[in-house]
Order: sequence, then C-alpha cells, then structure tokens
Amino acid sequence: MKKFAIAIHAGAETVKREDISKEQETQYREGLQEALAAGNAVLEKGGSALDAVVAAIEKMENNPLFNAGIGGNLNIHGETAFDAAIMDGKNLKSGSVGSIRYVKNPIKLARVVMEKCRHNFMVDTGAEEFALSQGLELKPPSHFVTEEKLKSWHQNYYDDYLKGHDTVGAVALDQNGNLAAATSTGGLNSQLKGRLSDSPLIGAGTYANNPYCAVSCTGKGEVIMRGVLAHEVYALVKYAGEGLQTASEKAVTMHKALLDGDMGLVSLNQQQEVAFAFNTNMMKRGYSLGGAAPLVALWDNEHI
Ligand code: ASP
Repeated sequence: MKKFAIAIHAGAETVKREDISKEQETQYREGLQEALAAGNAVLEKGGSALDAVVAAIEKMENNPLFNAGIGGNLNIHGETAFDAAIMDGKNLKSGSVGSIRYVKNPIKLARVVMEKCRHNFMVDTGAEEFALSQGLELKPPSHFVTEEKLKSWHQNYYDDYLKGHDTVGAVALDQNGNLAAATSTGGLNSQLKGRLSDSPLIGAGTYANNPYCAVSCTGKGEVIMRGVLAHEVYALVKYAGEGLQTASEKAVTMHKALLDGDMGLVSLNQQQEVAFAFNTNMMKRGYSLGGAAPLVALWDNEHI
C-alpha cells in the first residue's frame, strides 16, 4: 500500500492548565481533527502534499480559536497582520508572505507566490496587490478581529507578549512520496507593527526537502529565527544521520543558554514517520497515517 500522512500543530506555549477550560480543550481538539480530516481528504484521493497542507491550514485559518486568519493576535495598535509560508519538498520551491492584512487565507497567497510570482517572498501592500491580481479573496481587517482577542488586548496590552502561540502548521506526505510543509501565523500578541515572525522564513519556521523531512515550527519567533530551527532538523537528519525524532528534539534543545524561549515543531519524512518536539508544557498537535483516524493531543504528558 502506498504511504501517505499528515501532521499538524496549532502552537506551542507554556500555560497553566487551569487557564484552559475543558470546553476550550474540546474545541481545540475538534479544530485539530477538522484540519487533519481536510488534509486527509486530499491525500486519500491521491492529491498532492501541497494541496493537503493548504487544506489543513485553511481550516485552521478559518477557525477563530487559532492564531492565523480569523482570531489572529493583535499588535500593539490592536491590528492583525499575517505571515505564512509553504515549501515543496520535491523541487525546493517556496512561497512566503509577511505583514499582510486583507487576504482571507494567507496560506493561499503563499501558495500563489510560490507558483505564480517571480519572487519568493512578498510583504505588505505589494503582497496584497499581488493577491488582488491573482483573484484571491480579500476581507476587511474587522473580519479577523475576534471579541476574545480584543478583550485580551485591552486587558493585557503589553503583558501578553509571550502568550497566545497558536500559530498553525502542517506537514504532509502524498502517495507519490512528496513532502510539503506550511505555516501560518498572526504573530505575537502586542508585537510592534512591522514585526515579522519566523513562520514565513524558509529554514526558520518552515522547511521541506523530500529525501529528508518536512518541518513546521511554532513558538517565539525571535529565537526560532536565530536557531534556524526547521533547517536544523533537516541538517541533523542529513549530515548527522539522526532519526527524525532525535533530530527534532535536538533542534529544539540546542543552544539552550543562548536561545531562550518557547519552541516547538512537527516533522515528517518519506518513511511516514512523524515527530513532535517542544520545550513547553503544551503543543496542540495531531497526525494521521495512511488515512487512519487522526490522533490529537494538547499537553506534554499525552502520548500519541
Ligand atoms: N512563531 C510565531 C511568531 O513568532 C508565534 C507562534 O508560533 O505562535 O510570531
């Protein structure tokens, strides 16, 4: 039987258990299941890993629970802005977008940048003009701002900097043996206007290379960038011959004293192995192998 698989994360963060209600937990788990089902529906039919990661991420961008698309974090001015990237492990093509405000599904714009643009990385109004020229759906900024985020912005303002790492990411393996990785984020709470996250940076938040692995990261972008985290997993697999789980764990814990901050990632290889690694007590995550019922988890002591 041909192998295929999808694995996702929806953010790694350090939170108190009592701050997450049972109801929220259930909603997170349902949101993860829904995204995995969307990716699986593509892969089961023989669709591409690229289509699968876009389908999974689109679901999470449209889900107000996650920090991507609707429900994105608010910056210091109370505005949303989004970053996203996608990478094709077959040919190392990639597309990235940064600081975009009006595109309904940032991951779709990243895909179009990869496939239709002569550049790899488009930001701000230039990226939005490109989205318009490609017929992507646009929305007013109010579409993305949820009541919860607005309330927490008023309450916490500067304080919430480290919370709300609900960035979403997906990695997939299709029946032709191709890998893809994608990540989408609303950035950090109360970030400065114009700040870019690690998510759209190829090698930092997102990376895919068929013979080795596909990786999507989450956590504090400032440390993920400096650790070039996704590429580190690939490098450990390729040059050090590490297995995927060991490589993922080593990448997250490397340079501990210098790279201090929340970090997490999901990785997948052509052998249908999935690895999760994170230095937080929570990473919303899940996977499905060969179309089997998806498994999802939130806390560090849940084994899936
Ligand atoms: N990595 C994202 C950022 O730095 C945040 C997250 O993963 O939730 O903006």
